[in-house]
Amino acid sequence: MRASVDRELCASCGVCVEICPDVFELDADEKAQPKVDVVPPEAEDACREAADQCPTEAITIEAD
Ligand code: SF4
Repeated sequence: MRASVDRELCASCGVCVEICPDVFELDADEKAQPKVDVVPPEAEDACREAADQCPTEAITIEAD
């Protein structure tokens, strides 16, 4: 499973980082970005939750 963030949509709220810090971080511009290429299996549920909770629907999840 992979996750990506649309920087144009990201509102820098930090929700995804709070919910799934193993996968998301804020970059120097306070935009969320994935910190891993492949979502670790143990973080998949949290990653899906982060995508669901993102207020701007900026997170896309793709199955491998
Ligand atoms: Fe950006 Fe969405 Fe993460 Fe908020 S939850 S920081 S809007 S990607």
